[in-house]
Amino acid sequence: MNLRRYSELLEVSSGDPDDARRRQLLNILLLGLAVLTLLTILITGTVIAAHMANPDKAALLAFFVSLGALAAIGLVFAINHYWSGQVASVLFLLMLTIVVALSDEPRQVVEGRSVFLFTIPILMASVILRPWASFALAGLSSLVIATLALRLPEYVPPAPTMLGFFAFAFVAWLSARSLESALKDLRDINRELDQRVEKRTQELQVANKELARANERLRELDRLKSKFVSMVSHELRTPLGAIQGFAEMLQAGIYGSLSKKQEDALERISKNTRRLLMIVNDLLDQARIEAGELSIRPTVFSPSDLTEDLKSTVGVLVERKGLELTTEVADDVPDSLYGDKERLHQILVNLTDNAIKFTDEGGVHVHICRPDGKHTSHWAIEVSDTGPGISEEDEELVFAPFRRVDDSMTREHIGVGLGLSIVKQLVELMNGEIILESEPGQGSTFTVVLPLQPEQRRTV
Ligand code: ADP
Repeated sequence: MNLRRYSELLEVSSGDPDDARRRQLLNILLLGLAVLTLLTILITGTVIAAHMANPDKAALLAFFVSLGALAAIGLVFAINHYWSGQVASVLFLLMLTIVVALSDEPRQVVEGRSVFLFTIPILMASVILRPWASFALAGLSSLVIATLALRLPEYVPPAPTMLGFFAFAFVAWLSARSLESALKDLRDINRELDQRVEKRTQELQVANKELARANERLRELDRLKSKFVSMVSHELRTPLGAIQGFAEMLQAGIYGSLSKKQEDALERISKNTRRLLMIVNDLLDQARIEAGELSIRPTVFSPSDLTEDLKSTVGVLVERKGLELTTEVADDVPDSLYGDKERLHQILVNLTDNAIKFTDEGGVHVHICRPDGKHTSHWAIEVSDTGPGISEEDEELVFAPFRRVDDSMTREHIGVGLGLSIVKQLVELMNGEIILESEPGQGSTFTVVLPLQPEQRRTV
């Protein structure tokens, strides 16, 4: 049996917490006494066994008295455990008083060294029975010593001792009463706390349910919003494409020659339609990513194709700004890579477009390479510029949708703040990551790190 089972043995189930506590206390006292009695039985038993031929009378008496005491303790324990704590306590206190009364010579019990032993049952009565029971035990003890005093040759009424018993009973009563009222207060506080916790838990459950409903509503709204944006963008793309096409045909002179003014106007129509188309495309991509509708379609491609396509897409822009665009594919990058070439082109154009847009002097360098450090089975696209750079606090912000750095440089350029957000999400869809290193005034480097396919890892 482990310690827990022993402590369960001491516990008594009762509807009244005070009764349960008193009965448990009585069990503890009984257990202590049982251990002491067992020890006495063991010691006296050994002494008797050692002098078998001529056993010591006192040892014999102590042995049998202890056996009787053990049986009585067992009986009280059983009554306390299975029937009534009060009956068991009364029985126990009576037995204790009898033991005290018989523990010494009558004179010693009445006025000598053993008189103080009566205080033990008086004190116990106040805690295992009722606080006022200490007075009953003081009365019983007084009765016992008065009766014993009668048997002494010279009878002196033990009035001071009796008074002492009552004084002690008063102190025991006072302390037991305050202990009980403190325990009651504690129980009340506990009950109140339990009620409060239960009430709060219920409130929390209600709030949680409401929150879940609100979340569901928000998700639904979000789905609707994405659907709406994707529908509108899709519908806008066709007429915008037509405007762009007709403008280009007009510019090409298909519908006759144009005056300088008409050419200028057409140039502006064309430029703004391009911008609008870009914004609409970004909105469509963002909505598709949010709706989980955008998928990656990998094929085999050459890294140099990426840089060549980039040059033809942004070449005019670079020239117009008088910047220099350099590209480089490192030797250790495999000749053929596996990935969604269209989307990689979109990522590269977006990063380079930004670099060109925000750089006034110097140039933009695109480097396709193998990254150092922890990314050993990866390849990377680095886009560096000599532009204004991005401060540390804005580094996180620039990747959030519809967020732009609030400075004069940004305000000069058209954009809705979706480019980098789409780039980041695309890179994540490809199981890669995007790293931004920048110092204000020193330019920026965006590095897109992507995993190599397993077969490519083996060949490099
Ligand atoms: P947009 O270009 O439409 O504003 P982006 O998401 O592409 O949106 O970029 C967000 C912001 O990040 C930009 O408005 C700009 O302030 C900042 N940014 C992006 N690229 C650079 C760069 N190369 N140099 C300096 N700032 C940049």
